[in-house]
Amino acid sequence: MTRLDEARAALRKTFGYDDFRPGQDEVIGAVLDGSDVFAVMPTGSGKSMTYQLPALVDDGLTVVISPLIALMHDQVQQMVGFGVEAATLNSTIAETASRETWRKIRSRDLRLLFVSPERLLMDGCMEALRSAGVQRLAVDEAHCVSQWGHDFRPEYREIARAREALGNVQTLALTATADAATRTDIAERLFPAGRGVRTFVHSFDRPNIRLTFAAKDNPTRQLERFLRNRRAESGIIYCSSRKRVEQLADTLKADGFNALPYHAGLDQGTRMRNQDTFLQEDGVVMTATVAFGMGINKPDVRFVCHADMPTNVEGYYQEIGRAGRDGLPADTLTLYGLDDMSLRRRQIDEKEVPDERRRVERRKLEAMISLCEGAACRRQSLLSYFGEASEPCGRCDLCRGGVSLIDGTVEAQKLLSAIVRTGQRFGAAYVCDVVHGKDSEQVRRNGHGQLKTFGVGADKPVAAWRAILRQLFAAGAVAENADGFGGLTMTEKGEAILFGREAIQVRPDPEPRKAEPRGRRT
Ligand code: ADP
Ligand code: ZN
Repeated sequence: MTRLDEARAALRKTFGYDDFRPGQDEVIGAVLDGSDVFAVMPTGSGKSMTYQLPALVDDGLTVVISPLIALMHDQVQQMVGFGVEAATLNSTIAETASRETWRKIRSRDLRLLFVSPERLLMDGCMEALRSAGVQRLAVDEAHCVSQWGHDFRPEYREIARAREALGNVQTLALTATADAATRTDIAERLFPAGRGVRTFVHSFDRPNIRLTFAAKDNPTRQLERFLRNRRAESGIIYCSSRKRVEQLADTLKADGFNALPYHAGLDQGTRMRNQDTFLQEDGVVMTATVAFGMGINKPDVRFVCHADMPTNVEGYYQEIGRAGRDGLPADTLTLYGLDDMSLRRRQIDEKEVPDERRRVERRKLEAMISLCEGAACRRQSLLSYFGEASEPCGRCDLCRGGVSLIDGTVEAQKLLSAIVRTGQRFGAAYVCDVVHGKDSEQVRRNGHGQLKTFGVGADKPVAAWRAILRQLFAAGAVAENADGFGGLTMTEKGEAILFGREAIQVRPDPEPRKAEPRGRRT
């Protein structure tokens, strides 16, 4: 029997699973060979098993570094439930429990020890572990070591040192989310130069998940339209703020949907109750911040929506990845708007972080915006972000709707001219009103009815102008001015467009909206 066969037998006997999931066998095989391993596998693919199973098959201790205490607890409970000797050391553990854990470490009974990097670096912890004997180190959420990743944790930088202190043990690094640059960075930071690390990148493709994006128009109504024929299904709607989570849950409830809120600001009891309801009942819509979902194991989540644009592509991928883990068709809807884009840009600008970090976050935001505004197949764009080539999926909104870009230079010039002529201090809504020629109180007060650009765009509805303006913003032709009130200014690129030195492609006008049933609250 090979060691991999042994592992497969343990998978069946201890965990009760039929066989490996795609990708697991290769990684586990390499781990059992004693190699250093770097595995990039999507969320839900069963990464944890790649250290859990080797820890069972071998006799030694595996130290698992993980950034989140809550997840460690869950993992320990799960392992103990399967009859595997596992424990965690962290600051929230009572002294007696901790003594018991150390006893098991010294008597070599423990198989898996979960620790945070901070805990590992504390007072003599590594020395004690080394003398007890550690077989290998598993680094979960390994992207935390890289500034290029989306969740950098400075403590992760100490892991290489920790590995040395533990006796240069075999190391396994795992992550679900890493683009090519981040991947190289992780490998360089975790693995000693010259000790060949075996890297496995498992496909990120989740063909059963259908991707749909839509520009925000009336988000609540767009979401309700999406939910209407899905009443028996369970799903998650991610919102960018706690307030929005609660508002949306209230509105959906008032409109007859079975919605529950979840965010870190709710008291523990409510949170647990809502989570349990979501896990146990069908047809529950969880409106939540991104705090919801980590470590949640519900295979039949049928849809995931984003009421606001996700922060970055990694986050987006992780969040939609909570749908359709059973392999059956699942749907997504991602809403995005100019408000999200400008808010995110402002947040990044205002963050007190080194410039290097700021550049990384900007780059990630731009990638997310490109995914929203893109014209190529969503799946293709998404996979290419993770370095995978693929064919058009034929099922996403763009494959089905077949957006072809058209020249929008003249429209862009109208908007840019209105921005300049109104003094580069008004927001998107106002600028579009001026171009469309809306005779509003504010327009009259500012005397903008006399402008040459007033009403040059009367042929298009205001919504169409907003869509074009959003694309100008996404393309970097307009930016927010520094006053912080959402006023727009023209950038250098915008100037090039205004004076005809550069052209810009935009999406054609969206289709006019279908009439909505009356009497619904929005
Ligand atoms: P990831 O860390 O990649 O997001 P997990 O390691 O949390 O995923 O695994 C997700 C779920 O899949 C867990 O409940 C795990 O027990 C289960 N799982 C892992 N391997 C297998 C397998 N070979 N067959 C069936 N289920 C598995
Ligand atoms: Zn497609």
